[in-house]
Amino acid sequence: MFPTTIAGSLPKPAWLAEPGKLWPQWRLAGADLEAGKLDATLVALKLQEDAGVDVVCDGEQSRQHFVHGFLEFVEGIDFAHKVEMGIRNNRYKAMVPTVTGALKLKGRVHATEARFARAHTGKQLKITMPGPMTIIDTIADAHYGDRVKMAFAFADLLNAEARALERDGVDVIQFDEPAFNVYMNHVPAWGIEAIHRAIDGLKCATAVHICYGYGIKANVDWKATLGGEWRQYEEIFPALAASRISQVSVECRNARVPVELLSLLKGKDVAVGVIDVATDQIETPEDVAATIEAVLKHVPKERIVASTNCGMAPMHRDIARAKLQALGAGAALARERYA
Ligand SMILES: [Zn+2]
Repeated sequence: MFPTTIAGSLPKPAWLAEPGKLWPQWRLAGADLEAGKLDATLVALKLQEDAGVDVVCDGEQSRQHFVHGFLEFVEGIDFAHKVEMGIRNNRYKAMVPTVTGALKLKGRVHATEARFARAHTGKQLKITMPGPMTIIDTIADAHYGDRVKMAFAFADLLNAEARALERDGVDVIQFDEPAFNVYMNHVPAWGIEAIHRAIDGLKCATAVHICYGYGIKANVDWKATLGGEWRQYEEIFPALAASRISQVSVECRNARVPVELLSLLKGKDVAVGVIDVATDQIETPEDVAATIEAVLKHVPKERIVASTNCGMAPMHRDIARAKLQALGAGAALARERYA
């Protein structure tokens, strides 16, 4: 009852990468960097296990950014000449690489960290990858001339990596689609179909993570413009409910999302964000249990997973660790009360 997981990322140790940044520079190079990534992965696993997290992640310690960590392994992309692009419907500007040729994987993307994590934890293991819609919103195109066609080309690559991750012993494969909350009409039009392409042939659990973004200023400012009720989920949940995805991960804690919208995810496991990543204030176990209690009225209890609202990559490590503890303790409290 109420198993726990995290959206995906954890802050990196300062000896590995610049702290407090979403696009940090590595502080190691060459073989030291490769070893450091795995050492940090071990720390990330241990912190989750100690906090009582049931479905653990590698903490995304091996990637610089949640989208570009995948793109680095793709042929057909020019990283040398980055261009400025407004992303998430111009919410912020980012320097992005350009697709200049047919897309192809250079080889495995997450094999090293996934196999390492598999070897060092007995818990269920989740690996996250960016979803097709979010990828094409974070890269320029000078080859396909059609962004949806490009999204499906990326979906094929994601599928190849996802199938290999399943063979590596990964239990849950999650696609991060913050863009679903921005381009709502694209979700039923082609977003779900692209995710179906990405999960084709998988037998393991599959998840889609949607949220209102990390706690960076651009996102906090954007949320302030969304009004008293955030109803974006209302437009996309029916399509997700009708999809073949097994789990949907959404932001809840401190979100102005009307909690009854979660009832639209009928038949899906719902990973409920009970930890806000946009504030350094640490939730109490009571806060976590209260969020779960509110969701219980709209989602069957056996379908509720307790999670974080989004990745914790840009947070202070001590804050993230305390929030992990609150997640584990709060879910335990909810189990006592509502199981
Ligand atoms: Zn997120």
